[in-house]
Amino acid sequence: MPEMMFAVVGAGPTGVEVAGQLAELARDTLRREFRTIDPGEAVILLIEAADRVLTAYQPKMSARAVSALTRLGVTPVLNAAVVRVSDRSISIAVDSGAVQEVQARTIIWAAGVSASPLARALAQASGAELDRAGRITVQPDLTLPGFPEVFAVGDMVRVCDGAGSTLPIPGVAPAAIQQGRHAARTLRRRLAGRPAKPFTYRDKGSLATIGRKAAVAQIHGATLSGLLAWLAWLLVHLYFLMGLQNRFIVFVRWTVSFITRGRGARLITEAATPSDDPGRAEAQRASPALAVASRTVETTER
Ligand SMILES: Cc1cc2nc3c(=O)[nH]c(=O)nc-3n(C[C@H](O)[C@H](O)[C@H](O)COP(=O)(O)OP(=O)(O)OC[C@H]3O[C@@H](n4cnc5c(N)ncnc54)[C@H](O)[C@@H]3O)c2cc1C
Repeated sequence: MPEMMFAVVGAGPTGVEVAGQLAELARDTLRREFRTIDPGEAVILLIEAADRVLTAYQPKMSARAVSALTRLGVTPVLNAAVVRVSDRSISIAVDSGAVQEVQARTIIWAAGVSASPLARALAQASGAELDRAGRITVQPDLTLPGFPEVFAVGDMVRVCDGAGSTLPIPGVAPAAIQQGRHAARTLRRRLAGRPAKPFTYRDKGSLATIGRKAAVAQIHGATLSGLLAWLAWLLVHLYFLMGLQNRFIVFVRWTVSFITRGRGARLITEAATPSDDPGRAEAQRASPALAVASRTVETTER
């Protein structure tokens, strides 16, 4: 049944996390929420053009991620590039060159984003190069070629290494933050009459969560997986939240969610007919918002 087929395209950290979370929702959180279907029968495909998931990680971490995903009920499909998407199917080109069509109603794109259109406008104005993802190539000091007064940073740029190539910088928040700081430092250096320095990316490590108690981490050559990596993921995210109060609230929410397995999630799958209950029908006529609220209560109490 195509409705029960989920296709997640791209097995980077986003795709791996989405596929893992979908599997947990289907097989655990929402398992007993429907009368006519069994969400546990959902098929979750994780489609990746490369020969392994999480290509930015060491191969052994990719293998561990695949084991965790498979345990959760996700089916990784490797060496498979998605070449067409419609509202009911996706077409996948496999290694042999053949194209297979897979029926699926829910297709989640996790294979990368294109840069802000601002990058194209800047490239047109400055003559800087643009890559396939629409990122503009900036100088080693993060300025536009020929325009030292204009900086561009973050997801919308590739950084030239000064030797005809570009620096390998992942499209993650720490890279954007480091570039922003570098641009600010460069301005201060200029004001102090000192020359600009080229940008260098400091990789503080990578963490990818897969599901409950499952994650992989790679920090300065050291690797972690399973529960330890998952705990590290939680701690890092708590640490980077602003303010003690926010950290505490999120910690409590996560703890409740962990203990109850997210059972707070409920779906409205059927509308109550007004004739069921004259009192409620009256209330619904008076307030559509109340009608929605009363349906929610009914579904929650089921
Ligand atoms: C699904 C997903 C999950 C991710 N998960 C992670 C993660 O777990 N960890 C991580 O480190 N990174 C993650 N990333 C990547 C991270 O979000 C980006 O690397 C980071 O946000 C880049 O910061 P940025 O400032 O360059 O761009 P953005 O955060 O995209 O900010 C750019 C801003 O500029 C605005 N803007 C665009 N054009 C104009 C204009 N012409 N005028 C004015 N404003 C404009 C945009 O609206 C936007 O608000 C994820 C990305 C995605 C898509």
